[in-house]
Amino acid sequence: MSKARIIAVANQKGGVGKTTTSVNLAAALADTGAKVLLVDLDPQGNATTGAGIDKRALEATTCELLLREAEFAQIVQRSPENYDLLPGNGDLTAAEIRLMDESGREQRLKQALDPLRERYAWIVIDCPPSLSLLTLNALAAADSVLVPTQCEFLALEGLTAMLGTIEALMKRLNPSLQVEGIVRTMYDLRNNLDNAVSADLQAHFGERVLRTVIPRNVRLAEAPSHGQSIIAYDRASRGGIAYLGLAGEIVRRRRERKKTETS
Ligand code: ATP
Ligand code: MG
Repeated sequence: MSKARIIAVANQKGGVGKTTTSVNLAAALADTGAKVLLVDLDPQGNATTGAGIDKRALEATTCELLLREAEFAQIVQRSPENYDLLPGNGDLTAAEIRLMDESGREQRLKQALDPLRERYAWIVIDCPPSLSLLTLNALAAADSVLVPTQCEFLALEGLTAMLGTIEALMKRLNPSLQVEGIVRTMYDLRNNLDNAVSADLQAHFGERVLRTVIPRNVRLAEAPSHGQSIIAYDRASRGGIAYLGLAGEIVRRRRERKKTETS
């Protein structure tokens, strides 16, 4: 039985809070004392920056991991917040192009992460804003996909289409992939549209919509410029409380899932 649960944080839409969710979820899970690995699979390298690591000074990144040009031990970095990081930067674009012609190109990340399952309780993968080969690698490697979304006009249509596409793609690549949940981000309680779209999402996706709502909170936007998660930067802020809550909810759901599997 594998120990780690691997969660890909994905949405092909840009700017919905994938990286904010990846970094803060990793930090909040590590805050419980669990062993956590954060994987930056986005050439933008924002999760790397947010984890307090300089993305320009890296000798090896997730790029070399995918291309099998470096070992995990040569790539992994330690964040000051007690989790490990497989950093990413612009080199990932080159990795993607070079992988195009390789056989088994969608399974490279899975092959690299599976042997690490014994070492970690949680592996969180930050994906780029596309359903590119990099994201396919994340979804093929993952046990579940966590989908951050803003409650804006057409969010329901966008999510339905994307989850349909993921399901179709994963029939071949990873049939057991679960939906960890849809997490509402940058939520403004005073905004009627946010509330209306949120109600639509709950009506349509039911239990797949996580209870925790991430509010729009300027502290969440500030934290990365200090190379910190919200947990280190301001854990008592509304954003900090929300991400600690999200981690708690995901831990609880995992425990409950295990119970039903064994009963
Ligand atoms: P991309 O698709 O480019 O990778 P993303 O989905 O990873 O983007 P983020 O980078 O996490 O999105 O967030 C986009 C912007 O919104 C960032 O500037 C981030 O700091 C800000 N942001 C994210 N979540 C919140 C929030 N809850 N409150 C306020 N600002 C937020
Ligand atoms: Mg991002």
